[in-house]
Formats: sequence, C-alpha cells, structure tokens
Amino acid sequence: MKAGYRIVLTAEGATASGSQGSTVAGFISALPDNYMRPSISRFYFNVRNKDGVALRAPYGLSKVEASLVANGIPRDEIVIADPNHIDRFIGNRTKILGIYVMDPLGLSYGSGITYWILKLAGLSYRGLPFIARSFLNILMNDSVRRHRSHIKIVVGGAATWQLVDTGYNRKLGIDVVYEGEFESLGPKLFYDLLSGKSVPRVVSGRPAKIEEVKTILTPSNGGLVEVTRGCGRGCAFCTPTLSGMIRSLPFEGHIEKEIKVNIEKGGVKDIGLHSEEYFRYGANGIEPNPEKVLNLTKKAYKLVKSYGDDYHISTDFTTAAVVVQNPKLVEKVAEYINEGSRWTFIEVGIESGSPSIIGKLMRGKALPFTPEQYPDVVEEGIGILNDNRWVVVGTIILNLPGETEEDVMKTLELLDRIKRLKVITFPLPFIPMGALRHRDFTILDKMLNDPLRRELIAKALYKAMVESKSSLNLAVEKMENPLVKGAILKIGYRVMDLVINRYKRELERIEARKAVMEKHKIYSYSRQR
Ligand code: SF4
Repeated sequence: MKAGYRIVLTAEGATASGSQGSTVAGFISALPDNYMRPSISRFYFNVRNKDGVALRAPYGLSKVEASLVANGIPRDEIVIADPNHIDRFIGNRTKILGIYVMDPLGLSYGSGITYWILKLAGLSYRGLPFIARSFLNILMNDSVRRHRSHIKIVVGGAATWQLVDTGYNRKLGIDVVYEGEFESLGPKLFYDLLSGKSVPRVVSGRPAKIEEVKTILTPSNGGLVEVTRGCGRGCAFCTPTLSGMIRSLPFEGHIEKEIKVNIEKGGVKDIGLHSEEYFRYGANGIEPNPEKVLNLTKKAYKLVKSYGDDYHISTDFTTAAVVVQNPKLVEKVAEYINEGSRWTFIEVGIESGSPSIIGKLMRGKALPFTPEQYPDVVEEGIGILNDNRWVVVGTIILNLPGETEEDVMKTLELLDRIKRLKVITFPLPFIPMGALRHRDFTILDKMLNDPLRRELIAKALYKAMVESKSSLNLAVEKMENPLVKGAILKIGYRVMDLVINRYKRELERIEARKAVMEKHKIYSYSRQR
C-alpha cells in the first residue's frame, strides 16, 4: 500500500496549468464540454511536472506551500501535485487534500462572458465550463474516493464564495472552505486538521500582516510575483477590497527572491509584477508614491536583465484614475516595462460609464476625481496607456445593483467615446462578491433578452474581438511550444473572423430595429416591451 504525502496540494486542471505559458490565453478554460473534449483539454492544459510534482503552480498555491513550510511543516510532507497525477501522492498517510480554485462551479466572470460570446454568435453551449469540470474531476478521482475516510478536503482560492453561497460545499462533501488570506489562519487550520481536531466548515482568514507573507518555493505560473496586497478604493463588488488598504511587499528579501525563484527554478523569462494597482506600489493610502513605484520598476528591471536581454517585466492591473493623475510616472515606468517597441497588456476595470453608478458603488475608483469626471478619466487614462504601449483590457460590468436603463445608456456613450482606442472591452455579468455578496445574481440569458443590454454586450464584444484579433500575436507571445503557438494563432484568427462577422450582423439588426422604433416614435426600450 502506498504511504503518500500527508498534505497534497493541487488546483483545478485549468488553473494548475500555465495555459502553455500564456495566462492570457487561459480564457479557453471557460469553454464548455461541447468544445473542450478531454483529448483537447489534456493537451492544452497539461501541467509541467516531474514525476507528477508540479514544476510551476498557481501563485496562490505556491503561497500556501510557502506559508505551511515557514510555519514548521516539513517540506517533504507537502507536495504540489499535477491534478492529472494526484493518485501518485495520495496514500494511507494522506490527511489533507488542499484544492485551489478560480471558478469551481463555472459562475465567475470568465465563464459568464464566454457564455455571451458563444450565444451572441449563435454558437452552441452545452455542459460545464472546463474549469469547473476540471474541479469536479479532482473530487471524482479514484484515489481520492478510495482514501476519502482519512482525508480532509480543504478548498481555497478566489472563488470559494461559489461553493459556500450555493451550498455546494456540503453537497460535494468538502470538509472545509478557506476564505480570505491564507497566511493569517491557514497554518493553524492545517495543524488542527493534522491533529484530528474538529474545525468549522467555513474558515475566514483576516488580511495577513506583511511579515506573515512568505516567499514562494515553487515557481509560479506566468512568473507572477505579488508586489502589493489589497487596494483600499473600496468598490462594493470587489474581493481584493476586503483585504483592506493597499500594502506593499519589500523588494529586498521578498520580491527579488521570488523573481529569482521564477527565473532560476521556473525557467520563466517574463516576470509578472502582480498588483491590483501597480502605480500605487508603496502608497500610504489612495495617494500614490511615484518615487517608490519607479524604484521598484528599476530594481526589478535591473535584476531580470542580469539574466539576459530577452528577460522582461510586466504588470497586470491599474485604475484609469491613477494614470490620469500621474501621466509622467506612467511614461517613466513604460520605459522599463514596454522598453523599445514592446507592447504588453494591462487591465483597467472601467465597470460603468454612469457617474450615478460610480458614485453609489465605487466612488473610490474615481479618486482623486469625482464620479461625474469618471467617463473623461477613463477615456484619457486609456489614451495615456496606449501612448505608452499598453493594450488595455477594459472590463465593463452589467446588472450592477440598482442599474437603470439610463446607466446602461451612459456606458454605451462611453463605449462610443473609447472605440478609437486600443482597448479590449469585455462586458462581464455582475457577480455577487465583496460587500454585495448574496444578492442580484445575474441571469445571463435575461441580459441577452433585454434589448438595451444586448446592444451593450454586442457593441462591447465586437470591439473586444476586433482588438483581440489585432493583438492575438501579443496574447500568445509567451507560449513556449512554437507548434502550439502556430496552431492557436491559426485557429484563433479563424474563430475571431467568424465571431466578428456574426456580431457585425447582430449590430446591423440592432440598428435596423432602432430605426423602426425611431420611425414609430418608440423612444424607450421598456415602452417597447
Ligand atoms: S479599484 Fe479594483 S481592486 Fe480596487 S476596490 Fe475597486 S475593483 Fe477592487
């Protein structure tokens, strides 16, 4: 009989894999069963491993491992396993199976937008998103079932709310759901489970102190290195905001160590400096500290360049407000991140073009500007980022609580203003998270059946697809296998052409219907219904 590891950590197959080295292309994980056949998913979402041990892991899972080891659990009692090979590590000694999840039931933004992309293009949607299917596959694994009597299943990660709020944690037999930052209560929870103590079904960890955050031992997918935690702008729908005001990790002894682990052990050439708002690194509150941002950028750049000219740094998120507040800082940082003629992606949560919605639900997102100035700030901020060679991925949220038709029309106006810019506008369904948890879950079909919201989804997706097509090369740039890269590019262009043409026809239908309404003096969509 196999002894196994006492603690086996793993993640949904889609999350565990680095999506062939390109996290941007990971959206494919939200495709449902009728596209994501097992043979395709096995190939596309394979996990780099040595004898079943993951060579790189989702960042959050590497952090869990680091925290447990730093708290005294011997490294040889923990393994981060490729989810396709967990049977090699689960045995008679195994006490805990920890599963890291990003979308265990397929209810997150990525799955929602994928549903809209397919439905609006008239393409079929059957079954579960692969990311959710790959979570269920772990629970159904033979070795997990065989050893179930002595294993506690702990699930953690950004999307655990899906399990708790739907009651699926109980239905699926999950022993503990861990919410919040792992470093605060996670190690104690694991010790309690190892010693057989009873623990609550849901454990909520508080924001960790910076000194509790340990550096990763297993390299991270996408070469991710966290530089800040939390945000502090206080948007009501947001999970990072629950972590409180932005806290910055030090370069010396922390960020530098993780960069080295990713490059030296993980073989990564592009380090992703992860932050909810990069241009606020080192800030003490909402007001940015440009000197600290620039210092971090220069130090990280110098370190990666010591490995070779083809090593780079990137970052992932910003607000439009901080960009408009500090255009000079953005320009200086771009000299390092987007050196030469290099372009990278950066995500900006646009969310809404309605000052009223901004004022009610995310006033902090506009600071130091007012909600009334927000649409101008978004347009100007994206323009500044484009001028500095960032392609912006701009998210827009539909069905926010209290949203009226007037709010949707304001967002349509903003979409019109930014259509000349390089921005991939992703319309997302409102998901009840953060302070708005447990309310107003979005019915995806209802949004498509509402004429005004359908128009917004169609216009945003059309723009998103046109821009994605022109940036497809950039999206697959980090893919390590040239054959896969070539195939994805070829398939990607074909699929995008098809979808773009269908959206174009949909937009023509929308315009024709509006012309009829105008002719018959039917001014409001609601009156038409
Ligand atoms: S600005 Fe972004 S990260 Fe910060 S609270 Fe708002 S949505 Fe969350």
